[in-house]
Amino acid sequence: MKYDVAVIGAGPSGSFAAEKLSALGFKTLVIDPCDRKKVCAGILTAQYVRKYGINDSFVEKELKGVRISYHDVDAEITYRNAVEYSINRASYDSLNLNCAVGAGSELIKDMALSVKEKDSYVEIKTKKAAVLADYAIISAGVSDLSRSLGGVKLYAYCVQQKKDQKPDDYFEMDLLTGGYSWTVPKKDHVVVGTSSLTGYPDIPGEKGLIPVNGPVKNTFSRRTLLAGDAAGFVSPFEGEGIYYARRSGEIAAEVLSDVLSGKNKLNDYEKRWKKEFDFSTLNKLSTLLSNSMVLEAFVREIRDNERFNKLVEDILTKENKFQVKDIASLIKTLV
Ligand SMILES: Cc1cc2nc3c(=O)[nH]c(=O)nc-3n(C[C@H](O)[C@H](O)[C@H](O)COP(=O)(O)OP(=O)(O)OC[C@H]3O[C@@H](n4cnc5c(N)ncnc54)[C@H](O)[C@@H]3O)c2cc1C
Repeated sequence: MKYDVAVIGAGPSGSFAAEKLSALGFKTLVIDPCDRKKVCAGILTAQYVRKYGINDSFVEKELKGVRISYHDVDAEITYRNAVEYSINRASYDSLNLNCAVGAGSELIKDMALSVKEKDSYVEIKTKKAAVLADYAIISAGVSDLSRSLGGVKLYAYCVQQKKDQKPDDYFEMDLLTGGYSWTVPKKDHVVVGTSSLTGYPDIPGEKGLIPVNGPVKNTFSRRTLLAGDAAGFVSPFEGEGIYYARRSGEIAAEVLSDVLSGKNKLNDYEKRWKKEFDFSTLNKLSTLLSNSMVLEAFVREIRDNERFNKLVEDILTKENKFQVKDIASLIKTLV
């Protein structure tokens, strides 16, 4: 049997792509072993909440803002117009996959081993079977499969653990040059984590990889589209990825719907995500902050300068279009 679309990986990018395609009437297959825990701090950002709202079933805590520190300089941003949530990531993922299946997607619980593009179809081999589809969405996160198909190759190594500490309502970022450590409040505990560009930090905890440096060069080929982490769609500034995963999965589904109906070509995918996602500004900002003097000035200004505090709130919540040059010129006068 041949599917219209095979979606490989059922994180937010894959599940939302599959749900949309099935709702539009396309024969959709999802392939995921469904046997691993996704290591994630579990913050649904203001950008996400503004667009998609929230479902109480996976919420752990509403967040009032963020505390940012660098060495002994501490600052706090209380969100003026935005709200973010700390969530239970496993419940979120399982609800999204159930919605895709509820909309009509078929699920094969297996690992995809290879994806081969032929002239008129795609052949996917899993551990147990071979399946054919007209098109495939590669939404397998940072994985060997994604990498073998042109997906993300640059990532940071993260280690995270649960800590028995009373949670409050603020997300905490302890900035380091080239990354940060975090504390995220959950219902009755916190999770703490840290990242490194050179290998897993030598501390106990669950391990995960997060793309850095923004999107890969080619996010589409003859019959496949890369979505979510596989495409490198993660903000290089603070590591926000869930919003971009969900939205890129939806865009991929909309584009494939048009392609399957003969109304468009696959390259429309790149045009559409480029119109929506501003990774180049976020990349410039993250490069600017890779210097220790600049980092210290950045946190000091958040603490002491209300306009700057609001500017960084805008960056974190994507509330208003922000300009890296505003931040760059301000920092220049300080260091
Ligand atoms: C430590 C850490 C903390 C993070 N915290 C946040 C946060 O607080 N907020 C935020 O917005 N983002 C956060 N992120 C980023 C976020 O988790 C990702 O951007 C997001 O999960 C990407 O979704 P995805 O659907 O592209 O991939 P994933 O969620 O990684 O899903 C990929 C799926 O593919 C499956 N898969 C892999 N290989 C195969 C294969 N060969 N065959 C079939 N299936 C396969 C996996 O089982 C998995 O289900 C964090 C990341 C890390 C590592």
